[in-house]
Amino acid sequence: MPCEIISPWIKEMEDRPMGEPLVDDERTDIVIVGAGIAGTSTAYYLLQESDLRVSLLERTKVGYGASGRNGGQGIASVERSFKDLMGTHPGAEIASMLNDIDQGHRMVDEICRHIGLEDGLFKTTIWTGLSSLLEIQRQLEEMRLRAQYGAPIHPLMIDKETIPLVEIDPGLADMVSTTTTSKLKEVLCTRDRYIAAYPAPASLANSGRISQTIARHLLDNYPDRFVLHEESPVTSISFTDAVKARSQEGSVTADAAVICTNGYPPPEIESYEVPLISRSLRRYVASMVAHTSEENNAPGAFTYFHEEGDPEQEPYFYLTRRSFLLNGKDLVTVGGPQQPISEELDHGAEYPSGIYARIDGFLSRSYPRKLREEEMMCWNGPMGYTQDGMRLVGQDPQVPGLWYNTACNGIGFLPSIVGGWRVAAELKEALSR
Ligand SMILES: Cc1cc2nc3c(=O)[nH]c(=O)nc-3n(C[C@H](O)[C@H](O)[C@H](O)COP(=O)(O)OP(=O)(O)OC[C@H]3O[C@@H](n4cnc5c(N)ncnc54)[C@H](O)[C@@H]3O)c2cc1C
Repeated sequence: MPCEIISPWIKEMEDRPMGEPLVDDERTDIVIVGAGIAGTSTAYYLLQESDLRVSLLERTKVGYGASGRNGGQGIASVERSFKDLMGTHPGAEIASMLNDIDQGHRMVDEICRHIGLEDGLFKTTIWTGLSSLLEIQRQLEEMRLRAQYGAPIHPLMIDKETIPLVEIDPGLADMVSTTTTSKLKEVLCTRDRYIAAYPAPASLANSGRISQTIARHLLDNYPDRFVLHEESPVTSISFTDAVKARSQEGSVTADAAVICTNGYPPPEIESYEVPLISRSLRRYVASMVAHTSEENNAPGAFTYFHEEGDPEQEPYFYLTRRSFLLNGKDLVTVGGPQQPISEELDHGAEYPSGIYARIDGFLSRSYPRKLREEEMMCWNGPMGYTQDGMRLVGQDPQVPGLWYNTACNGIGFLPSIVGGWRVAAELKEALSR
C-alpha cells in the first residue's frame, strides 16, 4: 500500500523557523542542547522558576525529533518491570521514580493551560491487553511490588475462563476482577482475543506541538533571558573554566549545559573520555503507521501484548486514537517493534524493511472500526536507552557543569517534563550556591 512518509504530528505543527542559526559567540547562564519536549520543558521550568538566562540550541527544528514522531501517549509507566529494575536499584528508589513520573499528568495539564494549548490535550484511559498466563503472572508480580513499595498500582481484569488457572496473592484480591472475553474486546477496542487487561490514566498529546508552543511562549515572555537557535547542531562541549557549547559557526559560553538529545548521538564532551552519557546510551529506532477516519470516536489508547510466549521476546503494538487537528476526525496511530541503530537515522528508510506493512497488517486485522485505508502515513523516530532502564536526570557524577534530561527508554513524553522540572530545581539550587 502506498504510504506518505511523514508523521501526522508534524503535519499539525508550525513549519516556519522559530530561531536563527547560531553564528556568534554568546554568553548565557544555562545552555540546553536539544529542543524536543525534554529541552523545552527544562527551559520552561528554568525561566519560570529562576532568574537564570537560558539558550536553547537545536540541531534542526523545535519538536521535529522524537517529540514530533512518537505515539502521542502521555503515560506514567516505564518499559522495564519493577522486578527487573530491582536488579540494579533499591525498591524505594524505583517507587519514588514511578510516583514522580505520575506527576507528569498534572504537569502537562498545567503547561498546556498556561501556554494556551488545551485543544491538543486529550485525557483518557490506556488499556493494556495481555494474552498469556506468563504475562498475567508478571503483571501480578508488578502489582505486588508496587503495592509493597508504595508505587501507583492499577487493577487487573482477568477472563473468567482463565482466572481459575491463576494464583493470586490474597493481598491483591481487591485489585483483581473477573470479566468476559467480549468485555475485554470492548475495552481494548480489538477483534483479537485477550485474557486480561488493565487500565491506567493517559494524557494524549502531540509533544512536538507542545515543544513548539512552549518555545513560542518563552520567546514572547522572556525576550531578555531566553534565546533559541535552530539549525545549530552542537558538535562539542568543553568544561574548563566555563562551559562552552560549540556549533560549526558559533558558540555559547555558560555556567552549565543540559543535554536533552534523546536517541541522537550526543555531542562530544571534550577532555572527558567517559562521561555518563557516552557510557550508557544505546540508540534504537521505532516505527509507526497512521490512518485517518471518517469517524469521531472518543479518544483512546491501547497496548497489546498479542502473541503467546515470552513478552520480552515477542513484539508488541501500541495504538492511539484521538482527533486529528487538521480535520477534527479520528487519527489512529500504531507503533510496533523497534531495533538498535548505530548509524545516522534516515527518516526515509525502513528499520527493518517491511516494518510498516507488518504494523499496518496488525492494525487492519485487529482494529474493529472503519479507517480510511487509502490514507496511510508512516514514519520512524529515535529512542535513547540507558543500560539500567532509568532515565538520565540530573548532574553527571564526573563532569562539573554537565547535566542531563535524556534517554527516553521507550516511554519518555511525561518523564521528559518531570525531568525538566527536576533539573531546573536542582540547577537553580546549585547555581545559587
Ligand atoms: C516512534 C516512537 C514512538 C514513541 N511513542 C511514545 C509514546 O507513545 N509515549 C511516550 O511517552 N514516549 C514515546 N516515545 C518516546 C518519546 O517520543 C520521547 O521520549 C520524547 O519525545 C523524548 O523527548 P526528547 O526531547 O528527549 O527527544 P527529542 O524529541 O528527540 O528531542 C531531542 C532533540 O535534540 C536535538 N539534537 C540532537 N543532537 C543535537 C545536537 N548535537 N545539537 C543540538 N540539538 C541536537 C534533536 O534534533 C531533537 O530535536 C516514542 C518515540 C518514538 C521514536
